[in-house]
Amino acid sequence: MSTDAPRSWSKRSLAAQAMGHVDLQTRAVVAPIHVSTTYIRDPDNQYSSGFVYGRPDNATVREAEAVLAMLEEAQAGALLFSSGMAAATAVFQALDPGDHVVAPTVMYWALRRWLSEEATRWGLEVDFVATDDLDALRAAMRPGRTKLVWIETPSNPLWTVTDIAAVAEIAHAAGARLAVDSTCASPVVTRPLALGADVVMHAATKVLNGHSDVIAGVLAGAAPDAFWTRIQRIRSGQGAILGPFEAYLLLRGLRTLHVRIAAQMAGAADLARRFEAHPSVHAVLYPGLPGHPGHALAARQMQGGFGTMLSIRVAGGAAAAVAAAAAVGLWKRATSLGGVESLIEHRASIEGPGTPCPDDLLRLSVGIEDPDDLYADLDRALSAR
Ligand SMILES: *Cc1c(COP(=O)(O)O)cnc(C)c1O
Repeated sequence: MSTDAPRSWSKRSLAAQAMGHVDLQTRAVVAPIHVSTTYIRDPDNQYSSGFVYGRPDNATVREAEAVLAMLEEAQAGALLFSSGMAAATAVFQALDPGDHVVAPTVMYWALRRWLSEEATRWGLEVDFVATDDLDALRAAMRPGRTKLVWIETPSNPLWTVTDIAAVAEIAHAAGARLAVDSTCASPVVTRPLALGADVVMHAATKVLNGHSDVIAGVLAGAAPDAFWTRIQRIRSGQGAILGPFEAYLLLRGLRTLHVRIAAQMAGAADLARRFEAHPSVHAVLYPGLPGHPGHALAARQMQGGFGTMLSIRVAGGAAAAVAAAAAVGLWKRATSLGGVESLIEHRASIEGPGTPCPDDLLRLSVGIEDPDDLYADLDRALSAR
């Protein structure tokens, strides 16, 4: 592989060409998929290629990691995992028993459940606080014992916005690291490492891949320190690396990230404004609306848009929300987010008891369809009851 990419090219240009790598043997502009699990030793018994075995490392995975590290400007680089959950849990597994962790009340539900049901069994102490309330966060810190603050912004499914720079200061002052689940912002819109975070995590399953055909997760690190080395060892030891075929699909998805996300964010902003005036909707949750509690902060922290996700609260309660989701045609009634096809989901039914999600809420993941069609379809579904 060779690269002729001058550093001055924009991220959009570098992503479109997957860093401009060209295969030296064939001059192919698309990197090959490396499937080998093992590599031949040199006659002097070394591995001069740098590759030894498929579980710690893979050349196709490295290609996708290079794009992700570039997007996040990650000094330590990026590590791809077999899912967003595998990436996120590796961060917590890099801590020690007895360490204290602070995480948000409103966050990706499966990770919240893993933290309260599994991480605690391995000796982590976890407190959930409203991380958008900096006083509440300060009060939850236990200097010397709190080793990690985990935030998600905007966070599922209320799109609460948390001040990354302010939280980084609070965490660091107490001797803790800050990790940010930036899945719903994307590296196009927010760069947590530049704002002081130590680790940024994405479910690459979502907008990074964008085509709902890969489960993948990524971590990007601010510094190649001992904590980052430990995360690397955890991925390799537990065999949590992404497969080469998935890495190839993700790399293909990343080439169109900037144009997809621009179209999706424009669609989300348009729909948020239109549903705000809809008689069957009593609230629209979207950080781009001036009435959203996190709007001013989001306008500072997010560049170029407010994300591709919004939620609506349906007048008439849970039954009306479920009925509306049942009546859509163009929207697809399914979990997940970030893909080119728009998805709608009644979140309270999937999250179950204890969720902070109101039961009249429908989560909307906006794809690249014509926003007029998306509006007309959901308008008809809301009015059909
Ligand atoms: C989907 C998602 C995850 C988990 O990712 P998987 O690839 O499904 O394991 C974590 N955080 C957020 C915000 C997500 O949307």
